[in-house]
Amino acid sequence: ASGTTPGQRNVPTTTYADVGGMRETIALLREAIELPIAHPEIFQKLGIRPHKGILLYGPPGTGKTLLARAVANETGAHFIAIAGPEILNKYWGQSEQRLRNIFSEARNKAPAIILFDEIDSFASARDSMSESFEATLVSQLLSLMDGMNDAGRVCVVATTNRPSALDPALRRPGRFDHEVEVGLPDPEARLHILKIHTRDMPVAPDLDLDTIVGLTRDYSGADLEALCREAALACMRRSINLRDFEQKVSTHKLGSLSVTTYDF
Ligand code: ATP
Repeated sequence: ASGTTPGQRNVPTTTYADVGGMRETIALLREAIELPIAHPEIFQKLGIRPHKGILLYGPPGTGKTLLARAVANETGAHFIAIAGPEILNKYWGQSEQRLRNIFSEARNKAPAIILFDEIDSFASARDSMSESFEATLVSQLLSLMDGMNDAGRVCVVATTNRPSALDPALRRPGRFDHEVEVGLPDPEARLHILKIHTRDMPVAPDLDLDTIVGLTRDYSGADLEALCREAALACMRRSINLRDFEQKVSTHKLGSLSVTTYDF
C-alpha cells in the first residue's frame, strides 16, 4: 500500500532470498529495473531508454507480487502497490485522481516502483468496454505512462494472469513493453520454495522434501506455502496417541523426572 507521509520511504522487507526458484526471472528483472536505477549513466552512454513498464504474467500464486516486492526492497526503491480491483472499488469516483497521485508520489520519491497487481481487473481491452469508466482509466494510465520522463527512475510493474485480455495499447513500446513470464515452479524450484516455507518450522531432521516435491507437480508457490502451513497446523492439532506413549515407554528410565521444553 502507499499512503506514506511525506519524506517517508515505503520499502518492503521481502528479499530475493524469500523467492524460491526463478533465478532467470530475477536476473531479467534486475537487468530491467535494478540496473537503470543503480547505473543510469550506462543507459545514457549507450543511448538506450530503460523500460518504463514491465508486465509479469503467469498463473495465480506463482510469486509475481512477491518478486516485485523483492526487487523494490533490493533496489531500495520507494514502492507503491495498488491492487487492480482497489482502483475500481475503493477509489470509486476518484480513481483518475488516485492514478495521478500515484504517479506524482513516485516521481517525488524516485527511485520508485509502482505495482499494479491484477491489472486486467481494470485494464481489459477497451473495445469490450466501449465508453465505460474502465476505458477512461486505461486512457488515463496510458497518458501518465507516456508523460513519464524520469528514464529508469520510475518503473511501472503490472501483474496479470490473463495477458491476452489486456488492452493492446498497454503493451505497445514505451508502455508495458517488456513482458516476463512467471510460470509454475519446476521440481528444483519447488524444493527451494518448500525449504523457504519450512525454514522457520520445527520440522523433523529427516523430513524428505524431495518426496514432497514429487507429490506436488502442479502446485504454485502459493499452493506450496499453504501446504506447509496446513501440515504444521495438522501436527499442532494432532492429539497424543498410543504410539507416542509406546515410543516413550521404550526409552523412559524409571524414577527419572525429565522436563523437556519446546522452543516453537
Ligand atoms: P496472483 O496472480 O494470484 O496475484 P502472484 O503470482 O502475484 O499471484 P504472489 O501473491 O506473489 O503470487 O504469491 C502468494 C504467496 O505465495 C507469496 O506471498 C509467497 O508466500 C508464496 N509464493 C509464491 N511463489 C513463491 C516463490 N516462488 N517462492 C516463495 N514463495 C512463493
